Amino acid sequence: MSTDTNTLHDWEDVVAAVSFDVAASVAHAIQQNSAALAEGFYAVMMADAEAAQFLSNEAVQSRLKPSIQRWMNLLFAGHGSDPVALAALQRQVGDVHARAEIPVGLVSRGMRHLKVRVRELLVRSELNREDLVDAVGYVGGLMDLAFSEMSSAYVRAHEQGARTDETFRLVTAGQNLALERHKQLGALTDWENTVLRALAIGSPLEALPQLRSSAFGLWLQHKAPLMFEAATELATIGDQIQHLDHTLMPLLISNQNQGQGQEGTGVLRDFLASLEEARFVLNTVFDRLVDMEVGRDVLTQLYNRRFLPTILRRELELARNHHNPFAILMIDVDHFKRVNDSHGHETGDRVLQHIAVLLQGQARASDFVFRYGGEEFLAVINEVSAEQAGVVADKIRARIEGSVLTLSDQLSLSVTVSIGLALHDGHPDYRHLINRADQALYEAKRAGRNQVVFAAA
Ligand code: GH3
Ligand code: MG
Ligand code: MG
Repeated sequence: MSTDTNTLHDWEDVVAAVSFDVAASVAHAIQQNSAALAEGFYAVMMADAEAAQFLSNEAVQSRLKPSIQRWMNLLFAGHGSDPVALAALQRQVGDVHARAEIPVGLVSRGMRHLKVRVRELLVRSELNREDLVDAVGYVGGLMDLAFSEMSSAYVRAHEQGARTDETFRLVTAGQNLALERHKQLGALTDWENTVLRALAIGSPLEALPQLRSSAFGLWLQHKAPLMFEAATELATIGDQIQHLDHTLMPLLISNQNQGQGQEGTGVLRDFLASLEEARFVLNTVFDRLVDMEVGRDVLTQLYNRRFLPTILRRELELARNHHNPFAILMIDVDHFKRVNDSHGHETGDRVLQHIAVLLQGQARASDFVFRYGGEEFLAVINEVSAEQAGVVADKIRARIEGSVLTLSDQLSLSVTVSIGLALHDGHPDYRHLINRADQALYEAKRAGRNQVVFAAA
């Protein structure tokens, strides 16, 4: 990605706006203090608990501080500097941040800190008042440009990475999910049969492989995490394996050795139940992956999350090129747990299907409605003003509140939803938009539910 002409002019303009002497004074002040400035910058970052996790102290000492010093000296080299090289450097920095998963927000905080510190340095320097104003503007201008270059490179790199992950996941899954499922359920059954046969004919169980090191166990550890995002479910299967290998198998062995009848039956029942649980969870994660492959959520027939990044990236691009604003609505069913608890999961599922139909009914053909998570939906409403988006959101809310789902003669239900509405504000990262809608949804819940709240800009 090269620097576009507008951006190059921006860099040139910022440098051209100050005299040679002022630029040289800034360069001098920064060179004299670059070690302390770098120190301060990373102190700000390390103060953040999340950041401290990925900026280990050793790495900070050996790599990051010298590189921030170099970065500042180059950024403020003055009239001799090459704007093309400068812009390219900022993009490299953005790429590094993306690979290191250093959030843009954190870098922005560090930059604000630097601006303040450099301003303090300049105020204490020999510059006269007029030059001081120029110098402060020059420093701010360059930092803003650097940050904007860094964050757009960051967003690009990050999205590229997400796409690669997704592709890898699907490729690793192989062409044929049905076959993979069949093979793994088979491998689990093979292990089960081996154990049961050994028990039946009284051959020593000690000689049997643990489930963890069986074909199934190895697949689960090495390949399954690449195929499924569902880390919690894989952990559940892992727990079952642990339980089988370290509790139930030793019990089976000791019962076999002591020739116990009754107690042995109980252990055997637990053994079979544990395997059944693992099989059930495995089927669930496979089902979900099949949903993902087709891009639709099987329960509601809405889009699943797989295409959300693609859709939002396209909408951001359309908004940028044609100045068409759009909005997203984050919609969460109120007190949905109560529906499940009082009427069962199946009824809960029917309620979700009912809401999905209502949402589709309210959306225009150009809008997108996603099942975002369990009982959360996300709608992308394109080409709307803030006011229109508010009207759409409230119509959805009212339509759901006013609708009754008749489940049987005795039972009819109605539910409400809370909605967080975020209007695209020009930020290039769609995650930022989703986070704002999420925050607004949280406010709607806090304010008593069954309402629409606009996200702060
Ligand atoms: P509120 O959002 O108003 O704060 O309350 P809530 O009760 O809806 O809270 P929460 O978001 O914590 O609970 C959502 C519940 O939705 C938890 C989960 O059991 C249930 N759920 C998630 N996915 C499904 C699904 O596919 N089917 C059914 N029946 N229930 C689901
Ligand atoms: Mg929820
Ligand atoms: Mg809810």
